Amino acid sequence: MSVSREQVLKELGIAPVWRLRQQPASAAPAGAEAGGDDRRSRILQMDWAQLKEAVASCTACELHKTRTQGVLGVGDRQADWLIIGEAPGADEDAQGEPFVGQAGKLLDAMLAAIGLKRGDNAYIANVLKSRPPGNRNPAPEEVAACMPYLERQIQLIQPKIILALGRFAVQSLLDTEEAIGKLRGRVHQYQGVPLIVTYHPAYLLRNLPDKEKAWEDLCLARETMNNMKID
Ligand code: URA
Repeated sequence: MSVSREQVLKELGIAPVWRLRQQPASAAPAGAEAGGDDRRSRILQMDWAQLKEAVASCTACELHKTRTQGVLGVGDRQADWLIIGEAPGADEDAQGEPFVGQAGKLLDAMLAAIGLKRGDNAYIANVLKSRPPGNRNPAPEEVAACMPYLERQIQLIQPKIILALGRFAVQSLLDTEEAIGKLRGRVHQYQGVPLIVTYHPAYLLRNLPDKEKAWEDLCLARETMNNMKID
């Protein structure tokens, strides 16, 4: 008998990632993450210092056993632009900052192409704050446990626009399992904030022809922001 992924997650008491977003603190599904609703409510009350400490000492998923450190994010906490990636890799785990490896260099170049700079009106975060060993894909329960940190970061920053990089960031923020290729090219919303979907820089390093599409996505993001300034 074949069992669907959704059934397995239900058995484990884990809500699929795409169901966890956009819920008020009181509405999180019971057992959706380690510590459940209480933990999420507590995180959603935290200030930056508390968030930093909570991520540094977090043991909500198994990743704390293998990470060097939790990586909260970097940049301007009052930024208009919020860039969201997947999870720290080896370099980020060692240095405690998102996107400092090869993919980070490309991200910096992508941001520069639309007149942005890390730390200057831009904040960079990941869905997962801890590195999955061997850079494997994030597990649904890891995303579920980490998501409240990102939710709180978004509440605190109140960005004008979100740029979601790659499948995991996109699927965690939007209520969909659709492929990036189907989602890019239009403006989505995350809790009322315009969200633009594009390819992950690590993917672009392996698939150079898609850089052109990423450039189109960046132009759409810039145009969306410029239109907001005019309105
Ligand atoms: N890839 C990501 O998604 N985030 C990082 O911080 C580094 C690589």
